[in-house]
Amino acid sequence: MSVFSNGVVYSSRMKNCNSCGKCCEKWGNDGLSASTEEINWWETYRPDIARYVQDEKIWIDPASGEYFARCPWLQKSTDGKKFTCDIYDVRPEDCRHYPVDIAEMVRDDCEMLEQRDLVDLRRARRKLDEIMIDSRPPAGRYP
Ligand code: SF4
Ligand code: SF4
Repeated sequence: MSVFSNGVVYSSRMKNCNSCGKCCEKWGNDGLSASTEEINWWETYRPDIARYVQDEKIWIDPASGEYFARCPWLQKSTDGKKFTCDIYDVRPEDCRHYPVDIAEMVRDDCEMLEQRDLVDLRRARRKLDEIMIDSRPPAGRYP
């Protein structure tokens, strides 16, 4: 934590993902998409994943032909506090690129955000790109 000259206490900086699961829990129904290349790769190497793809839509329940209401790969820890992805290493690009920007994090109440990030968006965008360097290219300029 840091105390600024105005007496307001801010946390020091954007945190790493804490696996709260909020972003994944919102991906039920038709919130996610996958590229043709991803789908082809799953069909070849991960038929267990491809079975939940229909007409290039993810994730579809093969029994009903309807979207799952909740992502079928999301797992809750036994204490109910953390979430993990069963296909983390081969998850779709939509998931690998999240969070893309600060507005998306605010909308989803992402727990990586600290109050200080909201008073210096340029810095926050740069920090987010640093944290996400292994998952996606930088989102762009820092005006
Ligand atoms: S595929 Fe994995 S990362 Fe994507 S929404 Fe589901 S659990 Fe989350
Ligand atoms: S909402 Fe943010 S902190 Fe929570 S799992 Fe998603 S990226 Fe991580």
